[in-house]
Amino acid sequence: MEYYGYAGKELYIDLTTGEIEEKPLDLDMALKFLGGMGIQQRMLFDLLKPGIDPFAPDAPLIFGSGPLTGTGAPGTSRVMATLKYPETGATGSGGGAMRFGFMLKLAGYDHVVITGKASKPVYLKIVDSNVEICDAKHLWGKDIVQTTEALWDAHGDCGVIAMGQAGEHLGEMAQAACDLGSSIGRGGLGAVMGSKNLKALVASGSGSIRIADPERFNKVRESLFERVKRYPLHGDIVRDSIMENWRNYSIQFGYKNNRTFIPDLEEIDRTVGFEAYKKLGKTAFGCPSCFIVDKEIVEATSGRWKGTKWSTPTYLNAAMLAMKLDMKDAGEAVKFGDVTDRYGIDNLGSSDMIDFLYTLHEEGTLTEDDVGGLSLKRDIDGALTLLEKMAYREGFGNEMADGWKGMKRVFGEELVNKKTSIIKGREGVWEPRISGLGTNEFAQLVYPRGPNAECGGSGLYTLGQPLDTVVRHAGRMGMSNEAIERSLDSPLKVNIGRFVTSSEHWLALFNSLGICNRHVNNRFYSIGIVSELYSAATGIERSPEELITYSERVWNVFKMANVREGFSRKDDEPPQNWFEPMVDYKGEEHYMMDYYKTKKLTREDVDQWITDYYVERGWDPDTGIPTKEKIAELGLEELAPKRREKK
Ligand code: SF4
Repeated sequence: MEYYGYAGKELYIDLTTGEIEEKPLDLDMALKFLGGMGIQQRMLFDLLKPGIDPFAPDAPLIFGSGPLTGTGAPGTSRVMATLKYPETGATGSGGGAMRFGFMLKLAGYDHVVITGKASKPVYLKIVDSNVEICDAKHLWGKDIVQTTEALWDAHGDCGVIAMGQAGEHLGEMAQAACDLGSSIGRGGLGAVMGSKNLKALVASGSGSIRIADPERFNKVRESLFERVKRYPLHGDIVRDSIMENWRNYSIQFGYKNNRTFIPDLEEIDRTVGFEAYKKLGKTAFGCPSCFIVDKEIVEATSGRWKGTKWSTPTYLNAAMLAMKLDMKDAGEAVKFGDVTDRYGIDNLGSSDMIDFLYTLHEEGTLTEDDVGGLSLKRDIDGALTLLEKMAYREGFGNEMADGWKGMKRVFGEELVNKKTSIIKGREGVWEPRISGLGTNEFAQLVYPRGPNAECGGSGLYTLGQPLDTVVRHAGRMGMSNEAIERSLDSPLKVNIGRFVTSSEHWLALFNSLGICNRHVNNRFYSIGIVSELYSAATGIERSPEELITYSERVWNVFKMANVREGFSRKDDEPPQNWFEPMVDYKGEEHYMMDYYKTKKLTREDVDQWITDYYVERGWDPDTGIPTKEKIAELGLEELAPKRREKK
């Protein structure tokens, strides 16, 4: 049969036997779950043995993209990786960008499903229908930059997903990278690749992506590009990446040791913030089909790290970790970012952990002898050594490589929970005690995969948005008038719990169709535009309302896979730290407030929003598990919500 939008085939690779099988894309699956995250979640539900060790050879690893990936609409570069993540034990779909997803489709495949374990290091090469499991002996031990560049040299114009030394040593914070421009799979994708002896994937193809109605598609596509070009901040984003929004971010992420808020922004600006950033060398780059080009290669231009370059989705991550680790020089932040990305270690997670160790040392509960003589002073050399030990699992680095599980093993659960804001085994990204409990902050609790930068969104993405802006964004995301009404029925202006369900549907839609959900891109989209593009590209007519229902279906499969892994309401509880004050340098205490900062929130308030979230979703408010009625309504009866006890 002829496919439009979709490439039309799937690849199944068994690394144990070396078997490679090609199957047609399951059209029923595409009709019901859209693509990308949606199809992968549904596939994983069938392929994943409940309770399996994420490092077991049988644990599947699925890569692929959506029907809009590579179609040329703005930011249609999304590639997804779906798996059971070792850091949290939850299943989920991690997103990346750049060229791999697009290239995989040009080779003729929407998804590649990998199981088994190779007997020696390998990489997977997909060049049109020439699919080969190749020897990766020469790549093993190399970092992500070296690996990617070697594969580009060997295979020319191709997309590459690679992991580094942290993945080879099964570090739970090991992620992978797409084409040196996008990280993918926070929470252990790199380690799962390592467990399969899979160093990298390479894709390239000479095919094309067929559009069902090119005239209709191009009309929408061109009007979108016109909007991007007319956007007054477009030039600022190209010049400054998402640092363009530094004022907001510096407040949201300006803290360390989970308790100290750093509002002295003048000093931060000068040392590692926006002023320092402006002095770095910068080369902007972006994904194919994106006018935003918000990625960058930053280069330290002075001081000890002069000449150090880092290819990154954004310097912002460096500024965030620099504030945590008390760095005083943007060059140090660039170095730390480059080293983490080369090893393939999550730079936010690892800086949280290093900050935790520094804090214990500063409080006198941890000595350098306790960690095998490693330096616990807040300086770059010590931090780089800790990263190296973590990547190679050497000495105390072996505990660090096991993530927060390792820290709990060493220091006990009580101390770790007291000093961190861990949710489902992972540190949160968005800190509500500074910015208020908006959608991003709240969504971290209920996101089945564990907290992540992308788990929420909407008009509450940045601080203090007026209510009419929030409502406008809600409509853009396809929230019905009734749902908006329910979400605004709150003495605090917005019921965040109810509102988050729509942010999640918007996220699932982008991840399923293959559109970049970075706010700088997704702000130009509306549900009407998405519906037009999907219908024109695939020839499958879907109204905005239908797409939201499909997205809800995807989210419920995602949830049920995690119910089956043993997750329930107790895993969605807020960390105790959220209810403790953050203290600033003047000694003033900052408590968690609602988004509009009108009320100090109690645990009861947050619990109520969690209940409201479940009710809005049609899930059991006591357990957080989708009800039989909801499952039937979404046509998912075959996925019985059986819950097993989590180990
Ligand atoms: S906004 Fe950034 S990540 Fe998204 S498609 Fe454009 S360049 Fe890629």
